[in-house]
Amino acid sequence: MLVALPRHSGLDAPLDYLSDGPLPEGSLVRVPLGRRIVTGIVWPAEGGQTAAPPDPACAVAPAELRPIAERLDALPALDARWCALVRFAAAYYQRSVGELALTVLPGDLRELDAAQLQRRLKRLAKGLAQDATRSAPQAVVPGAPAVPPVPSLSEDQQTVLAALAAGGPGSWLLHGVTGSGKTEVYLRAAERCLAEGRQALVLVPEINLTPQLEARFAQRFPGRRLVSLHSGLTPAQRLQHWLAAHLGQADLLLGTRMAVFASLPRLGLIVVDEEHDPSYKQQEGARYSARDLAVWRGRQAGVPVLLGSATPSLESWHNATPAPEGTGRYRRLAMPRRIGAGGLPTVRLIDLQQVEARHGRRALQALPLAPELLEALRARVARGEQSFVLLNRRGYAPVLHCSNCGWKSGCPHCSAWRVFHKVDRSLRCHHCGFAERVPRACPDCGDPDIQPLGRGTERLEEQLAAQLPGARIARIDADTTRAKGSLERQLAAVHAGEVDVLVGTQMVAKGHDFRRMTLVAAVNADSALFSSDFRAPERLFALLLQAAGRAGRDAAQAGCSEMWVQTWHPSHPLYAALAAHDYEAFAASQLAERRAASLPPFACLALLRAEARSQDAALAFLHAAAQEAQDLGAASLGVQVYPPVPAALQRVANVERAQMLLESAQRPALQRLLAAWLPRLQACNQGEARVLRWAVDVDPQAI
Ligand code: ADP
Ligand code: ZN
Ligand code: ZN
Repeated sequence: MLVALPRHSGLDAPLDYLSDGPLPEGSLVRVPLGRRIVTGIVWPAEGGQTAAPPDPACAVAPAELRPIAERLDALPALDARWCALVRFAAAYYQRSVGELALTVLPGDLRELDAAQLQRRLKRLAKGLAQDATRSAPQAVVPGAPAVPPVPSLSEDQQTVLAALAAGGPGSWLLHGVTGSGKTEVYLRAAERCLAEGRQALVLVPEINLTPQLEARFAQRFPGRRLVSLHSGLTPAQRLQHWLAAHLGQADLLLGTRMAVFASLPRLGLIVVDEEHDPSYKQQEGARYSARDLAVWRGRQAGVPVLLGSATPSLESWHNATPAPEGTGRYRRLAMPRRIGAGGLPTVRLIDLQQVEARHGRRALQALPLAPELLEALRARVARGEQSFVLLNRRGYAPVLHCSNCGWKSGCPHCSAWRVFHKVDRSLRCHHCGFAERVPRACPDCGDPDIQPLGRGTERLEEQLAAQLPGARIARIDADTTRAKGSLERQLAAVHAGEVDVLVGTQMVAKGHDFRRMTLVAAVNADSALFSSDFRAPERLFALLLQAAGRAGRDAAQAGCSEMWVQTWHPSHPLYAALAAHDYEAFAASQLAERRAASLPPFACLALLRAEARSQDAALAFLHAAAQEAQDLGAASLGVQVYPPVPAALQRVANVERAQMLLESAQRPALQRLLAAWLPRLQACNQGEARVLRWAVDVDPQAI
């Protein structure tokens, strides 16, 4: 019997215990570990690949084996497919199987003993019975929002659904422009899956988007049990929802990236909405990509995986491009038209150099909007239409500055500026959270005249209010939505037409179906064009196209809807592609650049990150690690090891950060090297090169 346990003091290989009878694979047990009793999983014997080979040092002679403490028989075993998924993910992302297996289970499940588990299951069964008696009268609750009628499908939707039905399992990339009705496709595909008696898993990038989607699915499938999994649930809810899925009681599971690991014994379909979204990548612990695991899981289970986006990730686009140009691994589905005759908004590029030449630098400093744009906003307000002004930076100003001595509001703990927030007159570091009241005078020279430099949403909101008297201006960003339920309230106000001009960050740019919005303006988009991160243009393009997608969703207004983009570089190819709503042209040009530079999807990357008290220590550790990689024959394997460098954000909360990139054209070569290399790194972590933390990130999102 093998039991997987979390990583403790090097015990990351399966351990052996005595049991008085055979235990089903995948079942949970309580076992003694040191002086504690912990939960473990009876781990199926390795078939083929070994993710974490048993360490001979922890092999225990049979005579010394300890008996298990108790069996958690009330819970049906996790199935072989689930175990295979965890084993694959652990090997791919270079984690121990036991650690990963147990961290992806609900925390409460790991704490319960057999009796407590029994009680939970009983309560769940009781809740289910109550649900069943309640669900009928619920439909006629007076005052409940009317259930929208099931629409008849558009031509594009019909074509796509027919292809899906005929094509069967496999991975599909649904490239549908904003407003083309992708959700309806998900609903119909799920309907088919449920009709076959199977479970559907629907992944969404952000917890903010779950309530909307949950409501739509719940309305469409009133007799079905729908549960969600995301970080906003209490531990008890999370366990309950997880159990409902595991026991097969839930037909639909909707969730954020963590839901990809849910146990779904009757899985029949996986949908990944907004598949390009970076939040599918876990950024700590096991740094897995839920989208990529969804594809693996679907293939293994022989069920269709539907990846949807208006701006697919370049990886997915490449995979959905037939060979030899792409890999041809996914099939592509297209919905190029919006629902109803509505067109996509007209994109207008405003050349800021010309604006400056005409009106002077002062004018732009006072208000960062071209006069034409301000005029356009005014006209919408007068007509009773809504506008959205996108500025991807919260706070009042990104930095305060003393013009007398040059002092700037740096964070003493990070290599970053502290942002000026006018509402509470604070200077706040967005990286470590360090906050102070704004000083009355310059801390260095005492000059009282310290000024904000640059602009965030708070300041833009204030400036717009001054320029558009009488207009109802609202702001939505991470600062205005901290309190629970406040985002929903603010969005509801926009939907209800109580707002004329909405100022917001990317948070509002995605997913929301604002019916009265006819103008979207991106005030300052350029910075991503010149970022050191090779994915920055891809993300900017997706953000702008998503933002544009908020305009003109109501067919009646689509004709006059516009997206304005202010830029200092109007001739940049990214903007040309945006103006033509030409994702394909953008993807082709980016992929050509990536191919030439040997970047993903034409190469595989892994990033080793290190954090230490000093930058020297972090770099020394990475240099030692690089030497180890070379000793293991990185070069002959075809893995390139780049020199260690300080991270883009070098210091956060007094911790220095550095990183080192590994690249290979061949994934198996990179994986082989990582598997041999990582176990040797603990030994590099000593003396001058002692670091606080190090971690490997396979397929890093940001570098
Ligand atoms: P996307 O996710 O592709 O941006 P949505 O799924 O939000 O688009 O759909 C846009 C709007 O069109 C929604 O309000 C939706 O209810 C509506 N819609 C979708 N399909 C149809 C249809 N076949 N007939 C009428 N309205 C539809
Ligand atoms: Zn000063
Ligand atoms: Zn800080």
